[in-house]
Amino acid sequence: MELAETDKQNYLNLEKGFEGEIKFDVLMENLQQERLILNDLLLEKNTTKFQLDSLHIAQETVYHFEVKNFEGDYYMEKDRFYTYSGKEILNPLHQLRRSETLIHQLLQQLGYSSFQVESYLIFVNPTFTLYQAPKNPSIIFPTQLQRFLLKMNRVPSSNLNYRHTRLGEELLAVHRGDDPYKRLPAYSYEGLRKGFYCDLCYSFKIALKERKLVCMDCGCKEDITHALLRSIQEVKLLFPNLPICTNTMHDWCNMTISKKTILKHLKHYYVPKGYGKWMYFE
Ligand SMILES: [Zn+2]
Repeated sequence: MELAETDKQNYLNLEKGFEGEIKFDVLMENLQQERLILNDLLLEKNTTKFQLDSLHIAQETVYHFEVKNFEGDYYMEKDRFYTYSGKEILNPLHQLRRSETLIHQLLQQLGYSSFQVESYLIFVNPTFTLYQAPKNPSIIFPTQLQRFLLKMNRVPSSNLNYRHTRLGEELLAVHRGDDPYKRLPAYSYEGLRKGFYCDLCYSFKIALKERKLVCMDCGCKEDITHALLRSIQEVKLLFPNLPICTNTMHDWCNMTISKKTILKHLKHYYVPKGYGKWMYFE
């Protein structure tokens, strides 16, 4: 469906943030020291929720990383953060400090105050520039990432024991699992566009040729079985309460493929429930 402008912006921001976190995780795979990694912890303090992008429990230190995938030019002025065009955004350093305070309090409360806490604001996008940046060692710019990693690798951490594991478990126990459906814009089955789209470029301009879906925009080919199973997963994700049956899938695929083919796949890959025209698959 066509998203409202604010939803579209929100979606793009989430996607960009997610890409940044993946970039960061890939980078962290180069760490040689032992550590427990907890990603996307959602904690609550005085009814305020805090999302911690990445938390590493090492020998004597808890590292907290706030990861930003900002692109292009930004500037700072009097402790405030702006895009190059002058639009003020939340200062990520404030966010970092607030989260750090919370982590300190939490460790104290759980009986782990002997751990040091180190917080870093990591900018992962190589195109990012911050004018008038403060000389703050908590900020790691893209050009400093490799050196930062080397520095981390020099801090010994090789004897993690039950105490570290228990801390990890206790943090997970206070983690407020987020309900992803709550953040979605409202949608209905009727309001969504039907039909296959390209797995690679998301174009709806698809032709069926010799049991393959061919994208008219990028030329990508997808086996019909793969495409159909992908569509079934979509329906299950978007409408968890909708029974999967031949008619539903025929409609969802915009009648591109025959009911006979759909039924054959459903029988092969899913378990039938019910009888006759009430038959559905799980
Ligand atoms: Zn395509």
